[in-house]
Amino acid sequence: MTRTYRITLLPGDGIGPEIMAVTVEILRAIGRQFDLAFEFQEALIGGSAIDATGEPLPEATLATCRNSDAVLLAAIGGYKWDSLPRSQRPETGLLGLRAGLGLFANLRPAAILPQLVDASSLKREVIEGVDLMVVRELTGGIYFGEPKGCFADEQGRQRAFNTMVYREDEIDRIGRVAFDIARKRGKRLCSVDKANVLEVSQLWRDRMTLLSSEYADVELSHLYVDNAAMQLVRWPKQFDTIVTGNLFGDILSDIAAMLTGSIGMLPSASLGSEGPGVFEPVHGSAPDIAGQDKANPLAQVLSAAMMLRYGLDEPEAATRIEAAVNQVLDQGYRTGDLYAEGMTLVGCKAMGDALLAALESPIPA
Ligand code: NAD
Repeated sequence: MTRTYRITLLPGDGIGPEIMAVTVEILRAIGRQFDLAFEFQEALIGGSAIDATGEPLPEATLATCRNSDAVLLAAIGGYKWDSLPRSQRPETGLLGLRAGLGLFANLRPAAILPQLVDASSLKREVIEGVDLMVVRELTGGIYFGEPKGCFADEQGRQRAFNTMVYREDEIDRIGRVAFDIARKRGKRLCSVDKANVLEVSQLWRDRMTLLSSEYADVELSHLYVDNAAMQLVRWPKQFDTIVTGNLFGDILSDIAAMLTGSIGMLPSASLGSEGPGVFEPVHGSAPDIAGQDKANPLAQVLSAAMMLRYGLDEPEAATRIEAAVNQVLDQGYRTGDLYAEGMTLVGCKAMGDALLAALESPIPA
């Protein structure tokens, strides 16, 4: 029986509409293969929403997102809106979307595709075969902790402070997401904290340890964040799934992303406890190449694969898209950001056509 999903598309700004158009075609093709029907509804966010409505996240957009099974976002922002006050900036729309949908878990995979090993700044033997996932807590920790502020002390010196705070239920909530993801992957979860110094981290470690009794099939380990940063560049293959708080996750997910060396290839997902998740590439709106058919659509396409796997529980369809990406890279197709001598340089649309052809053809053994 056909399974039907309502998907909100947020193309946003810059290269957003170009990479989104390619991705919608891929989803339509995958729908035909796997008997999935997608009902797409498009809404405004970011600079294009500011131009049309004066706001970066119109109420109608949030309502449309809430009324869907998943949200596929491209990217927002551009030179045109850079000088607006913070409350009217495109980025404010993104933060509003995350808050409005209660997205507390951010998933950032970093997998090295064999065809792109040389794009990494690390040595081939270190990087080959890396396939890890960073699960970052997104709505708590030091970025949101109270009290916070800046004041003058008795001697008139400025003092500023923030508070790193986690409640046990916040830790359990992100812990469960991470254990569930580890279960779908290599069944190894590394929790990263600074429990040797911080009370908040000790609670984090205790709760993760407690939770692990519910997940006997997942092997839990712990690392201090300084060591985790070193290990990520020393021998990243040791990691399967990493779970950590907001601040440590912000930094570690960027380190992990850069292991791959190619921003046009990196998808991400943000999930809440109920309601739709948001699936989007890690890169921005690339205004320098917007409207020129030069953008790499693969991070957006891989974000759609994440949507199928983690948002809609359609793992076979996700795997089929990932195989098609692999196939076009094997065939030597590259957009400008990844081009190397001997490869076939293609634009955004032609990369989409190559993907469609790969989807129609058998998966190479
Ligand atoms: P960016 O990721 O947009 O671009 C950085 C560089 O990478 C540029 O040279 C760009 O051409 C290239 N690039 C990025 N994605 C590419 C793709 N798919 N294919 C080919 N090349 C690609 O980052 P930036 O230049 O710092 O920011 C540009 C705008 O994007 C800013 O307004 C920023 O605020 C916004 N931004 C949005 C998001 C988001 O929507 N989540 C994230 C980061 C930046």
